[in-house]
Amino acid sequence: MTFSEKKHFYRRNTCRLCDSRNLEIVLHLTPTALCDAYVPIERVNEVQDVYPLDLFLCMDCGYIHLPYVVDPEAIYRDYIYVTTSSLGLSEHFKKYAYDVINKIKPQKNALVMDIGSNDGTLLRYFKDRDMKVLGVEPATEIARHATEHGIETIPEFFNSVLSERVVHNYGHATIVTMNNLFANIDDLSEITKGIRSILAPDGVFVIESSYVADMIKNMVFDFIYHEHLSYFSVSPLNRFFRRFGMELFDIERVPTKGGSLRYYVQLETGCRTVTPIVNELMTYEDNIGLYRIESFRAFAEKINDKKVQLTNKLIELKKAGKTIAGYGGSATTTTLLYHFGIREMIDYIVDDNPAKQYTFSPGYHIPVLPSDVLYERKPDCVVVFAWRYFDSIVKKHQAFMDRGGYFIRPLPELEVVYKH
Ligand SMILES: [Zn+2]
Repeated sequence: MTFSEKKHFYRRNTCRLCDSRNLEIVLHLTPTALCDAYVPIERVNEVQDVYPLDLFLCMDCGYIHLPYVVDPEAIYRDYIYVTTSSLGLSEHFKKYAYDVINKIKPQKNALVMDIGSNDGTLLRYFKDRDMKVLGVEPATEIARHATEHGIETIPEFFNSVLSERVVHNYGHATIVTMNNLFANIDDLSEITKGIRSILAPDGVFVIESSYVADMIKNMVFDFIYHEHLSYFSVSPLNRFFRRFGMELFDIERVPTKGGSLRYYVQLETGCRTVTPIVNELMTYEDNIGLYRIESFRAFAEKINDKKVQLTNKLIELKKAGKTIAGYGGSATTTTLLYHFGIREMIDYIVDDNPAKQYTFSPGYHIPVLPSDVLYERKPDCVVVFAWRYFDSIVKKHQAFMDRGGYFIRPLPELEVVYKH
């Protein structure tokens, strides 16, 4: 695979899980710039490329995915997202480490590896429980920072070559974790071979990833962006791991990212029995028609309804001379802004993450400012792009509503909140 110099992306024609070419487009979204490529003021005059954003379904195994692969170098090298800066994630990882240790019951000092370990937040909780830990994180600055703070982190992309080096230098791993990253990888076979060779005979690979059935049910369509190549569900993954002599033996539901699953996978010679939830979820997926084109047609119609509702509301406000800001400069904001076509309505975006403040949104270059600005510039209303955190944002900014400000929640249902 090579990336063209100019475009930095290519289109894949085969299923990442079963190699089939029998792929059908099921959802067309407006092409966007790279969702998390917020730029500093020095680059505000640069034009950012946009890439197609269409979801495809593999008619043979049910795998749902984006076939367009943007060069990971372009996505990750400048990545400014740091785990601890995300609302609530640190607590989530604390519980995660606790749950995984309870389930796997590893021996003290067994090796835990986290691939895509970011600043080492998750590994720190395993380390606190007397486990040996090792991170792998291609964002070099974040990796260096983690190592300096006591979580040894290899600043590279994970692959089967690196896995050999890890086994040679550190031994086999009892737990390998990968959170919200497995879905971002194009060559899943290569990664999975690497994981298989790293696992100890009783080792367990734990993936946490957004669940496409929940994504559709909860209207989290803004979670579709170029970084997320895969939209996983149980049946296709269950088949996939079997191809590699591995076995999906347990699943837990987790509330992150609008609904995720935590998959537990062992070598097929592993000692754990397969729990009923694996078959239960596969039956559920069949029952809701997850692998049928018609289900996505209904999803597309619902997205369009939400778009019409929000744009009508914003047009009405603009006609009344109101000023409108946005809240939340995250990756999901980019998909929402482009697909809903509301760029012209939004004067600026506020965000509580200092790394995003005083940057400009991907492609459209809408300024991103600290949320104090709501009290200086006093916009009439604020569209909460970070709508999954709507309640906590509204709670935090009661003073904004006290002086007459409105908050608008765009999804899953349009909601306008105000005090007067
Ligand atoms: Zn397939």
